[in-house]
Amino acid sequence: MKGADAASTARHVPQRKRAQPKRRLASKPQPDGESQPVVNTQFRILHQIICTSNFHMAKGKIFTNPPTWASDTTTEIYDARAHLSSTYPVYNIPEYIKRSGDISFIVFRYYRCSDATRWDHARTGDPSNVRYDEAIGIVSQPLQETVDRLSLCVSDPGSYYPKPANPAGPNQNQNDKEFDQDEYTMDYFYHHRHALDDAVDQADGALQSQIAALRMYVSTQYGRTFDEVDGLAAQGKVKSQDIHLLFCPNEIVVTNQSGVPAAHVLRAWPTKGNIIGLECWNWAYDGHYLRRKECQLAINRPIQPMVDIRDLEVYPLRFATVDEVSYLESRGRKFWSLRYQSFVAYDGWDLKAENYYVGAQPPFTLRVSS
Ligand SMILES: [Zn+2]
Repeated sequence: MKGADAASTARHVPQRKRAQPKRRLASKPQPDGESQPVVNTQFRILHQIICTSNFHMAKGKIFTNPPTWASDTTTEIYDARAHLSSTYPVYNIPEYIKRSGDISFIVFRYYRCSDATRWDHARTGDPSNVRYDEAIGIVSQPLQETVDRLSLCVSDPGSYYPKPANPAGPNQNQNDKEFDQDEYTMDYFYHHRHALDDAVDQADGALQSQIAALRMYVSTQYGRTFDEVDGLAAQGKVKSQDIHLLFCPNEIVVTNQSGVPAAHVLRAWPTKGNIIGLECWNWAYDGHYLRRKECQLAINRPIQPMVDIRDLEVYPLRFATVDEVSYLESRGRKFWSLRYQSFVAYDGWDLKAENYYVGAQPPFTLRVSS
């Protein structure tokens, strides 16, 4: 939020995708940490521990200092009982934003203890060995509007941190993030980095410096990886660890089971882990209507450090062969024509049939499923 009235910051954070009331660790603001060196006035970095253990109840889960492993036993052994902890807790993010002044965005770094093993995360006393995932939350309203304008798709942090099955239950949000606005991940910035460059050129004044600060952070943190992914993708290859970067929601992806290509529309960011989940939909003809049908595709992360993209179970359409594209277009046109047959055959079609989207996508997206 750029503006002299820092107190207005919280009010101006866009209230998007709000399904639940705000969640805070403490009902009353408490003194926040001040130890983080301010190297850039445009942003701050906060470190949040994702864990359901009671170990964190008294210590807090969000800190201005990076966490290290702390054993809750007297053995000083970093075993499975060890938890992450840090100093200078932050109990109230809006209050922290207010106290931080004129910042534009916050980098949230997420650390996990309770399921650290799943992250292949060794508990050790070495601070440099503490791993995290991160996402950026926008604080400045003008910067948020810029990001909204250039976005091809919406960031979906739920892909990484599924909400509890019963959000109203007693354990509500214990494993959830505290910043409940949209967040933008490395994946997002890979697919929007050129748009971000253009946005810097097109803006001026305070907004330009905000966008430039965001671009600088992205470039510094991820630029080398992005360049490497681009270079390998040009050769049709990808590092196993970077597969998720190939996919952007709203793009068409291709499966090629048994040598028969089929097209789907990706509807969320890929999940991470040994199995890369891809939530998709496709057009399905049920004998009467064409309908949007949800489907869950997956890629088993290859053991090899580098693979051919076209050897993956699912790959973006831009890596399909000319023959595959031609086949999908031909097949798509064939079934797209069925929508008119459906319409004619069923006079009195209910326009509220939610799954019927006339002209929503080109023929690529069509596929008959059983
Ligand atoms: Zn923990």
